[in-house]
Amino acid sequence: MKISHLGEWDLIDQISKRFSRPLPPGTIGIGDDTAVLPSHSGKSQLVTTDMLVEGTHFLADRISAPDLGYKSLAVNLSDIASMGGQPTSVFLSLGLPGHIESGWVDGFFNGFQELADTHCVNLLGGDTTESKSGIVINVTVLGEIETQFIRLRSQARPGDWICVTGCLGDSIAGLNFLLHPEIESSFSNILRQRHWRPKPYVTEGQWLARQTGLHAMMDVSDGLHLTLKEISRRSQCGIEVDLGHLPVSAELREAGRKLGWNVPEMAAAGGEDYVLLFTVSTDSLQELQKNYEKEFQSKIHPIGRITNSGSMVYLQNGVKFEGDFKIWNHFSGKN
Ligand code: ADP
Ligand code: MG
Repeated sequence: MKISHLGEWDLIDQISKRFSRPLPPGTIGIGDDTAVLPSHSGKSQLVTTDMLVEGTHFLADRISAPDLGYKSLAVNLSDIASMGGQPTSVFLSLGLPGHIESGWVDGFFNGFQELADTHCVNLLGGDTTESKSGIVINVTVLGEIETQFIRLRSQARPGDWICVTGCLGDSIAGLNFLLHPEIESSFSNILRQRHWRPKPYVTEGQWLARQTGLHAMMDVSDGLHLTLKEISRRSQCGIEVDLGHLPVSAELREAGRKLGWNVPEMAAAGGEDYVLLFTVSTDSLQELQKNYEKEFQSKIHPIGRITNSGSMVYLQNGVKFEGDFKIWNHFSGKN
């Protein structure tokens, strides 16, 4: 069978089943945003790795070298953030075609280093090799967390509110502008920038993980719909989300209005926004919203509820939404 018939999740499930030997206590393997390894005195180490492949994740002529360096690290820091952890160190492996200019490599490291410095993360190693096809970037980030604060995809509870830390859909909007340079809007620059340089919610993730009543957490890397599906699968619960409540930036709203885009679909299905999605008990929500705003001068957005049913239900301003989204899935190109 071709892997395009399997899709990314089934393929990962098959890999996972091969390595089904019980893990040592405190160890978490395949299935969350990072692996967890017990460390010393109540702490655990977090490990995550992500690959960016030219032609699949980026087009080399549509992203600058510094932005690509920045983004390669940002997407990995986001996985550490989603567990509630503090990133500590990074490894970087590069497969580069021979025609790449040394100035490009300098630029790549400028962007990479800028974000590494912001989060005080040291580059401790990696690998460099020639690629006979496109550019391949693999980043591994290690992190640290007090074991009691680890937040998993499997910890959502019926009745919880589902919240996100930022706006959805900006990244896919930015990508639209990149792929269709003939379209312009006064906000295309800002939206492209959000696609190139997503914000990893590292400080916010650590803060959130320490709050009472906060249960599951995950970053929205593959889009909201797939993130909710994953929370539902791992926590064995239902989901109810109102598309009318999804936070959308003023820039996307305005660009969408001018260009006739389906903004709720972009917010629900577009990937690479890297906001954090978490679930929190009803009686903790208000206090959490108030304290988060005080701490970060930014809002958290409740978008729906965890339910007892096994299904995912979307509403559009209170009315059941029966439509379908166009979702990207590696290998099959759909989900
Ligand atoms: P994320 O989007 O948070 O980076 P992924 O969807 O890429 O997570 O991966 C889901 C889980 O599957 C993670 O725990 C990841 O480590 C694991 N995984 C993905 N690919 C492989 C692989 N080839 N071998 C082992 N584990 C994998
Ligand atoms: Mg993730």
